[in-house]
Amino acid sequence: MKNYLTASISASAVQHNLQELRKKINPGVQLCPVVKDNCYGHGLNLLYPTLAKHADGFIVASPSEALEIRSYGYTGFILCLLSAYFDETDIQEELIRQGVTQTVMSKAALETVAAAAKRCQKTAPIHLKIDSGMGRLGVAAAQATNLFSLIEKTPHIQLTGAYTHFASSDDPDTTYMHQQLNTFLDVLPKNNPLTRHAANTSALIHHPDTHLDLVRPGLSVYGCHYAEHLRSKINLRPCMSVYAQIIAIKKMPSGSFSGYGRTHQYPRDSRVAVVPIGYGDGYFRSLSNQAVVHIHGKPAAVCGRVSMDQMTVDITDHPQINIGDPVEIISAHATAPNSVENLAKLAHTIPYEITCHMGRNLHHKLVD
Ligand SMILES: *Cc1c(COP(=O)(O)O)cnc(C)c1O
Repeated sequence: MKNYLTASISASAVQHNLQELRKKINPGVQLCPVVKDNCYGHGLNLLYPTLAKHADGFIVASPSEALEIRSYGYTGFILCLLSAYFDETDIQEELIRQGVTQTVMSKAALETVAAAAKRCQKTAPIHLKIDSGMGRLGVAAAQATNLFSLIEKTPHIQLTGAYTHFASSDDPDTTYMHQQLNTFLDVLPKNNPLTRHAANTSALIHHPDTHLDLVRPGLSVYGCHYAEHLRSKINLRPCMSVYAQIIAIKKMPSGSFSGYGRTHQYPRDSRVAVVPIGYGDGYFRSLSNQAVVHIHGKPAAVCGRVSMDQMTVDITDHPQINIGDPVEIISAHATAPNSVENLAKLAHTIPYEITCHMGRNLHHKLVD
């Protein structure tokens, strides 16, 4: 971890986002944030208290994330999206002892969980994952009925829920999403009070008919929109800003070059700041010669290629800027040119990838 790179994380922004999301769902629908990949790179340890207070449960990807939440003292609902694939005896048993709900999507996974539950002399809560058209994890809808009856006959297993995941809930044409929803609902047993869920962020915000009994927002919890047109639909506050400091300033004569590949030539005598962040820290190389950072609120262009651990920005127009000055790499204002959303656009990727990468090397601290 690099202590000189700071990700400032706002728990009050997350609280605000959860409250805004809550307004979109009916009372009784459970709001369970997705906290996989360390809260999309924001820091589960920092956000846990706020999430625990304002959410009805947690959705995690890996067993270690589930156990981390239990280690904070959380006793409520935790669903692990991937766990039953890992046939590691001690992990399975620990999840069952800790009352973590596991995803089952096949006969093999069912047998793994049931065997572990039997060894612990416990009953394991599970949710059945149904592939209604995403083509990823989940039992094919056509085989779901068989798996439901197998589950019913399996001791040490308690089926408490069933879910599916949309492939394109952000598509303005909702035909495919509604096909998926119907496929999912059609294969559910009729007289079983299961917790049914399907909605990620975009389905939650756009399509109330997908809310069912529980919603699983991820990106929106951390205040990012994955598409511009959603901004008017809900008022979210990004919860991360990223800072570095200028470690060197140099004068570059007109006609000289910047960085690998000499992709930038200074058109005039220039003043350039070296900032110690690069693609190894999650600042994408595709932002080279494209993005801006802010220094004392003023934009400074990234000039030349972003290297692994440093980059250069042009401060010719800002003579008052000095070594040691803070550089705002990512702004928590959604519309700033250096917001997560705008950087994602420049880098031809999605906000998710930007925040996840920012989670690796930076020193995360809570600011409010
Ligand atoms: C990541 C994930 C989500 C959350 O998606 P967002 O678009 O971030 O809201 C929901 N459900 C599943 C199964 C996921 O893997």
